[in-house]
Order: sequence, then C-alpha cells, then structure tokens
Amino acid sequence: MNGDALLELRGLSVNYGRGRHRPPDAVRDVSLTVAPGETVALVGESGSGKSTIGNVVLGLVPASAGSVHFDGEDITAAGRRRRRELTRHIQPIFQDPYGSLNPSRTIRQTLVEPLLAHGRASAAAGERIAEVLDRVGLPADAADRYPDEFSGGQRQRIAIARALVAGPRLIVCDEPTSALDLSIQAQVLNLLRRLQRESGIGYLFITHDLALIRHAADRVVVLYRGRVMETGPAAHVTEQPQHPYTQALLAAAPVPDPVEQRRRRAQGEHSRV
Ligand code: ADP
Ligand code: MG
Repeated sequence: MNGDALLELRGLSVNYGRGRHRPPDAVRDVSLTVAPGETVALVGESGSGKSTIGNVVLGLVPASAGSVHFDGEDITAAGRRRRRELTRHIQPIFQDPYGSLNPSRTIRQTLVEPLLAHGRASAAAGERIAEVLDRVGLPADAADRYPDEFSGGQRQRIAIARALVAGPRLIVCDEPTSALDLSIQAQVLNLLRRLQRESGIGYLFITHDLALIRHAADRVVVLYRGRVMETGPAAHVTEQPQHPYTQALLAAAPVPDPVEQRRRRAQGEHSRV
C-alpha cells in the first residue's frame, strides 16, 4: 500500500455484463494513485473507460475485481452508510452544468444540502455558503437565485461550490469544462487549480482532451479500451509520448494554433500504429 496516497486503485476491473453474456471489460487491471494536492488526469477517447473509473471511485458503479483505497481505507465494497459518509470527502463535478443542478432550487438550497447531510447546523451553513460562493468567484446574492439565471460558466462555478462546500479531500472531475467555450474553460481550469493550491484537494481529472492536461494536470494516465497504455508526468507525456496510442491521440487533439497542429499531425503520422 502506498502510504502517502489519498486515492489508490489496484488492479481495478469493471464488467457491466451479467450472467453468461459478458461484454469485454470496460476497465481492465487499472492501477493508479492520487496524492493530496495532486491532479491526475485520466485521458483517452470516448468509451475508453474514464467515467467508469470515476464512477467506481464515487461508489456509483461496483468493481468487478481489484480494489479502491481512500486514505488507506479499503472502500471497494463500502456499504451504503459508509458511502454516504464518504460523500463528505469524495465529491464529483460533472460535465453538464445544466443537467447537474436542480432548476427548481435556489443556489442556497443546493449548497446547504451537503452541509445538513453531514450534520452542520443551519446557522453556520449560511456563513459557509457565502464563503464558498466567494471562493468560486460568484457574488453573495447568487445564493437566492435559480440556476437558469446563470451562464454556463457560472453554473459550473456553482457545481464547483457544491462540490467544495462540505470540505472534500478528493474531487472526481469528469470532463468538467468540456461543455464550455474555450475562454471560459481556461477560467474554470484556473479556478480549480487555485482552489487546489488553497486546500490541498486531490483531483482525479477525466478528459478526452489531451490539450488541456499540460495546464490542468500533474500526472497523466492514458487509457485505451479500459487499459492503461502509458502513465507519467503531464509535461513528459504531452511532449514526449512513449506509446503510439498517446502519439495518435495528441495528433488528433484540436490545437488552436494551425502551425502547431500541422507539426503534430506530421509527427503523429510517422508513429501511428
Ligand atoms: P468514457 O468515459 O471514457 O467515454 P465509459 O466509462 O463511459 O467511457 O465507457 C466505457 C465502456 O463501458 C464503453 O464501452 C461503454 O459503452 C460501457 N458502459 C459505460 N457505462 C455503461 C453502463 N452503465 N452499462 C453498460 N455499459 C456501459
Ligand atoms: Mg465519460
């Protein structure tokens, strides 16, 4: 066991099948760690098993084999009650800031829920909500408004506030900026990084977009069909990818600079399998 790891997956496999009709494993023998204050990106094309891994960590999908440890505790088969307690420490941020917020609830109602669930008195909750809204860059009066009064980027800030409010230690970010415009993406990524520096939260950062990870991640795990192809420091994997699949993925990543894009395409062409 890695003593410093906040999250450790060991030989994790997931198969969605039942009985005799089993599809191929959606995730196969994946091991990784996330340390406090670290961002580990899970990258791979659509269907490579990224969300499945995030959902196992969140307790939404069961592991078929292998284990999940959080802060040294084996939570692979944690029961419902323990899982509920763990939501204080492990929180998600999903891609869709429209779908993930309840339109009929004020922001305050959305943010107070995780606090009350973990026994915080409602008097203290008001202060905590104001503090968290400020940290994510929203005005205090946002608390009494509804989700549809906000832009996409602001809604993702609300989703981040909801993830933060109970003081988590690990956040599973599943394509947190994929639905946003490029300029807003950068703001939200910067916000996530700043919050991490302030609080030492670990991020398991899921994205199909390799272009993001140099800025957003410390380490990268590249997945293909549920298996780990390559893993290493973000700068290293993006600048000197070792595996042909990673090279092809980089060549396919949209890059705003057309010169850079041509260079990457030319590079990828030589090494594509
Ligand atoms: P990614 O997030 O990388 O796009 P997913 O983890 O969503 O990949 O999917 C990995 C594989 O598992 C895919 O083949 C997908 O069709 C399958 N899968 C995902 N969720 C389910 C589910 N709830 N039931 C059955 N198969 C699923
Ligand atoms: Mg996904």
